[in-house]
Amino acid sequence: MRHDHQAESAPTNKADSSRATHELIALIGAGPSGLAGARNLQKLGIAFQGFEAFRDVGGLWNIENPRSTVYESAHLISSKRTTEFAEFPMADEVADYPSHRELKKYFSDFADHFDLRRHFRFGVRVLRVEPVDPADAGTCWRITLQRDDGGQETAEYKGVVIANGTLAEANMPRFEGRFAGQLLHTSDYKSAEQFKDRRVLIVGAGNSGCDIAVDAVHSARSVDISVRRGYYFVPKYVFGKPADTLGGKRPLPPWLKQKVDAIVLKWFTGDPTRFGFPKPEYKMYESHPIVNSLILHHLGHGDIHVKADIARFDGHTVHFKDGSQQDYDMVLAATGYTLHYPFIDREHLNWQGMAPRLYMNIFAPRFRRLAVLGMIEASGIGWQGRCEQAELVARYFKGLDDDRPAAHALERAIAGPAPDLRGGYNYLQLERMAYYVHKDSYRAAVRKAAQQLL
Ligand SMILES: Cc1cc2nc3c(=O)[nH]c(=O)nc-3n(C[C@H](O)[C@H](O)[C@H](O)COP(=O)(O)OP(=O)(O)OC[C@H]3O[C@@H](n4cnc5c(N)ncnc54)[C@H](O)[C@@H]3O)c2cc1C
Repeated sequence: MRHDHQAESAPTNKADSSRATHELIALIGAGPSGLAGARNLQKLGIAFQGFEAFRDVGGLWNIENPRSTVYESAHLISSKRTTEFAEFPMADEVADYPSHRELKKYFSDFADHFDLRRHFRFGVRVLRVEPVDPADAGTCWRITLQRDDGGQETAEYKGVVIANGTLAEANMPRFEGRFAGQLLHTSDYKSAEQFKDRRVLIVGAGNSGCDIAVDAVHSARSVDISVRRGYYFVPKYVFGKPADTLGGKRPLPPWLKQKVDAIVLKWFTGDPTRFGFPKPEYKMYESHPIVNSLILHHLGHGDIHVKADIARFDGHTVHFKDGSQQDYDMVLAATGYTLHYPFIDREHLNWQGMAPRLYMNIFAPRFRRLAVLGMIEASGIGWQGRCEQAELVARYFKGLDDDRPAAHALERAIAGPAPDLRGGYNYLQLERMAYYVHKDSYRAAVRKAAQQLL
C-alpha cells in the first residue's frame, strides 16, 4: 500500500521494488550499521528497502553528510583490525588508525563490493514510524518518508530496522550566565581554522574533546580544557602495537584487567594528575577510556592547560568552580551526544531514563519486527560488533518468517528481562554509559543468540 501526497517522481533503484511494501523490512540509514543490516538481510534473502537521508553511504564517516559529526582531523580511535567488518578487511596499506577520508572510501567500497546501493533509496528521510496496530506484536509499520524534492510518501512495511546513528544529536549543557564570545558544540566543529588566534576553552576531555584540543594547539592563541572528573588516557600505541590489539584472546576478569591495564598505563602515560587532571574516582573501564597519544604530550609542553568545572559565564569571563576565572573568545562544549529517534514514539522503543531499554540493545520488547542497530557503546566494539547485531536480527526475522521454534524462543526472551551485558563492570551513570556494554560479554551473547537460530 502506498499513498503519494505529491506527484510520483521517486528514484527507482529498488532491489525489491517488484514486491508490495508490506512484504519488505524498512531499514533506516546507510552508515556502518545500516550497511551491516543491508548485508545481513541480503545474505539471508530477506526482502527489504533501505532509506538514507543523505545522497550516499558511509554515515558520519562521510564528512559531506550534514549529519556527520567528524571533523577534518578525525581518525579512527580504535585500530583498523579491531574495527573493520570481518568479511571485508581493510587493505594492508591502510594506516592502523585511518582518517575519515579513508573510511568514507571503505564504506563506499563495501557497498559496491556487496552490491548494496541498489537496496537503498538515497535522499529519502524517514519522518514517521508507527505501528499499524499498536496492540499487535506482529503489526505492520506505517512509514512516512520525505524525499529531497519535498514530496512525502506513506506506506506500510512488514518490519523496521533502525540504524540512524547515535552520535548526531548534540548534548548541549545549560550553563549559568551568558557567554559573550562564541559558544559551540563539537558537532559544529570541522576544522582548526575556526580557532585561529582565539582564546579557546574546550569543555570535557572525552575522545572528541581531546582530539579537538590537540587540533586547537596549532592555531588558537591559547587552549584550556575544563573537566569535571578524572580520565584514563590510553596511548594509541603500546609496545609498538595499536593498544587495542594487545591482550590475550580470552578476556581477563574485570578486577584483574583493571589492575593489569592500570599498571601498563602508568608505565606509558604516567600520572595525569601531574598535569592538573583530577584523580578518577572510578576504576578503569567504568567509563569510556580516552585513546589519545597527544593530549598529555601537549599538556606536558604547556600548550594546553586543565581547568576545573565551569561555575558560570559572565561576558567573556568564565568562572570555574575552584574559584579561578579566565577570559575566552570561544567555548566549545565537547559534551557528547544524546540518543535521538525522533520518528518513533518513545514508548515503542521502551525508553527508560536516558536510553531505550532494548533486549541486547537491539530488540524492542513489545514488537516482533522492530530492531535497532548501532545503539551500543563499548570500548573497541567496532563495526564487526554492529555487524553481529545485524546478523542476529536477520536470522531472527528469517526464523519468524519460517516459523522456526528457535525464533519463537528468542521472541519470548525478548519480551522478558534483558540480560546483563556489563561483563561485571560498574559503569558510571552518564548519558553515554546508559547503553554501554562490555565488548566481549556483549559480542559473545549476540553470537550465541545468532548461533541458536541456525
Ligand atoms: C570523531 C569520531 C570518532 C569515532 N571513532 C570510532 C572508532 O574509532 N571506532 C568505532 O567503532 N566507532 C567510532 N565512532 C563511532 C561511530 O558512530 C561509528 O563508527 C559508526 O559511524 C556508527 O554507525 P551508524 O551507522 O550506527 O551511525 P552513523 O554513522 O551516524 O550513520 C547513520 C546514518 O543514518 C542516516 N539517517 C539518520 N536519520 C535518518 C532518517 N530519519 N532517515 C534516513 N536516514 C537517516 C544518516 O544520514 C547516516 O547516514 C566515532 C565517531 C566519531 C564522531
